[in-house]
Amino acid sequence: MKPDIKSYTLDELKNIMTDELGEKPFRAAQIYRWLHVALCTSFDEMTNISAGLREKLKEHFELSVLVKEQLQVSKIDGTAKYLFKLGDGNRIESVLMKYKHGNSVCISSQAGCRMGCKFCASTLDGLARNLLPGEMLDQIYRIQADTGERVDNIVIMGCGEPLDNFDNVTKFLKMISDENGLNISQRNITVSTCGLVPKIRELAELNLQITLAISLHAPNDDIRKNIMPVANKYSIEELLSACDYYFMKTGRRITFEYSLINGVNDSLKEARELAERIKHINSHVNLIPINPIKERSFRQGTQEEISEFKKLLEKNKINVTIRREMGRDIQGACGQLRKSYSEQETRTNDEKEEEIF
Ligand code: SAH
Repeated sequence: MKPDIKSYTLDELKNIMTDELGEKPFRAAQIYRWLHVALCTSFDEMTNISAGLREKLKEHFELSVLVKEQLQVSKIDGTAKYLFKLGDGNRIESVLMKYKHGNSVCISSQAGCRMGCKFCASTLDGLARNLLPGEMLDQIYRIQADTGERVDNIVIMGCGEPLDNFDNVTKFLKMISDENGLNISQRNITVSTCGLVPKIRELAELNLQITLAISLHAPNDDIRKNIMPVANKYSIEELLSACDYYFMKTGRRITFEYSLINGVNDSLKEARELAERIKHINSHVNLIPINPIKERSFRQGTQEEISEFKKLLEKNKINVTIRREMGRDIQGACGQLRKSYSEQETRTNDEKEEEIF
């Protein structure tokens, strides 16, 4: 398989032009513009590049373009859910949400996921593979091209665990915020992780201005272990200490995600315990009423229970919001569209996933 040209930074592309293809470095800037500003989908669109060089590019590189296989638009709020097919046939989901403050796109970082969270649909079939930087970029590019509207905010909360694909995700973050590309401010980008502690520390070292969101979902290790296998590897104490470190290095407030699962983690006792645990951290809590998936029996509490949980956090001076549910009518929860699609196909693949925690 040839390397994906969309996954090279401008500097890398300059070196390839001069060292490998015997071309002038300014060609790299021209090509980079076609790929990352004009959002072209073939080498033949690069009209200021000679036919000879275009042929050379085709010989050396793949130009990965995601194929829109399905689009569902919510009649309630305009949320648009895209199912994209990758070059090798794998499928991923991306979601466009329209807010007053601009367009947000939720992208996937892996095809599938190997983290095994009990409430999540993305992980049910395990991990197929990591996405390349170019494949993450192209989710934004194709949605922008499809709608004709600029993408303002990005959240990496689709299929996959971004910090399990660290190098490609951090390269993506640099490229999407590069002034030679779409130049989306890092402050408008959120990376959500289930809590791979060493990788959070490594991310802190890069000193990016992105928001880090932690999928906490429990105030203590016992409950967390029940719903998130990653909790067997890293304790909440280690996780919160990595959050302190991230804040110290970047000055960025941490977001905690807390999916409320009735009878599992949503009692007032747990709200109190949560407040106690995180009150020293400059943070914001995002409560997410669990989105039930048909493979599991988790349920949402009542509106009243959810709002009591929120009030208790507020009483303890914790910043908290309840995440507004978007696209309720178009298969909301993560990975559900991809999953239902793959179920329609006959599956012979029954390989066992390796145990990682
Ligand atoms: N791997 C990353 C991104 C996952 S998706 C992470 O773990 O953070 C983004 C958020 O949605 C995570 O907080 C995840 O735990 C949560 N989530 C997944 N499935 C859900 C469901 N069915 N209902 C509510 N939240 C869910």
